Amino acid sequence: MNTGMQNLVGLDRQELERLAQSLGQAPYRGRQLYRAIYRRRATAIASLTDLDKDFKAALAAQYNVDYPRVQSVFTSRDGAARYLLRLQDDTLIETVYMPEEQRTTLCLSSQAGCAVDCRFCFTALLGLERNLSAGEILGQVLAITKAREILPGARLNLVFMGMGEPLLNLAQVMKSVHILADAQGFGIPLRRITISTSGIVPRISEMARDPRRPKLAVSLNASSEEQRTELMPINRKYPLRELLRACRAYPLRPRELVTFEYVLLDGFNDSDADARRVAELLRGMRAKVNLIPYNSGSELPYRASPLGRVLAFQEILAGSRIPAYIRISRGQDIGAACGQLRLEGTRGVETAP
Ligand code: SAH
Ligand code: SF4
Repeated sequence: MNTGMQNLVGLDRQELERLAQSLGQAPYRGRQLYRAIYRRRATAIASLTDLDKDFKAALAAQYNVDYPRVQSVFTSRDGAARYLLRLQDDTLIETVYMPEEQRTTLCLSSQAGCAVDCRFCFTALLGLERNLSAGEILGQVLAITKAREILPGARLNLVFMGMGEPLLNLAQVMKSVHILADAQGFGIPLRRITISTSGIVPRISEMARDPRRPKLAVSLNASSEEQRTELMPINRKYPLRELLRACRAYPLRPRELVTFEYVLLDGFNDSDADARRVAELLRGMRAKVNLIPYNSGSELPYRASPLGRVLAFQEILAGSRIPAYIRISRGQDIGAACGQLRLEGTRGVETAP
């Protein structure tokens, strides 16, 4: 629904200060607005009780605080939920909610669809529809925390592992990350925000230069150049060698590691020799590996590695002192697991939004 109003969600502190000034107010009014939208998560201009009356009236004439609409929710047996969200122009995207005992993780989309075309990923089948704006990225956090009644201050982890390649939409992704991490904004520490990439090398180097960078995860998925090119054609443009060089140069905070994701495909990239090659590639690096059993589907030719293989792979990495964790994706029964996001509207039990 397009109301002709401009959404305040997505504007950063400077933009809100300038907006306040353009409406004849002091810049600090803009900072008040910033805190109200992101820190307190106020949903309507009328409810901003600490704002000046005239300012509120002027704002309400042209602006609103608009979140993506929850179109449907699919709830997994394991407690995860896949949210199908409708944006202002009716574009549909997905966000995954994963509650745990001590914290909640939200898996955010950075694009509608994806252009990267990895052979094992169902999002790739959608192609790229468009980039999301910073407001639409923040809107995912706002819509889900509202729906789930997650209060400001509750422990929240954010991973850019939903639809899309975040590093092909870096400006909007980093704008959202800065607002998410800002103490006056959402106040989510950078060490709880992770961006996962298929390996857009120059953008990794660009992120590395940002003092407010989040944690880095890289979809490795193969143990050699040839194998990776077959699975991820982007490897032709940004070869593994250069990717690993950029990862080694990524500055890390104390105790921080670069995460490498490795989807295990039966008989393709899961042999002992593959594991030894991965150990060799990552030698001496401050890194850990997340082993992801493949989530299969009828349109793609791969099969998941048997559990014994997954464990053997992990053993070999651990033997080379590379910490490796087996990440069973949550929400498989509802199409919410890694690589499954494809706007599916039928699977799973649909629950009221
Ligand atoms: N585009 C980014 C962010 C998406 S994260 C990236 O590729 O890193 C999606 C993660 O799920 C990636 O690590 C990818 O390797 C993994 N993945 C994709 N398809 C999968 C599938 N069918 N089963 C398991 N994991 C998959
Ligand atoms: Fe895009 Fe990531 Fe899927 Fe590759 S794995 S197609 S980069 S979403």
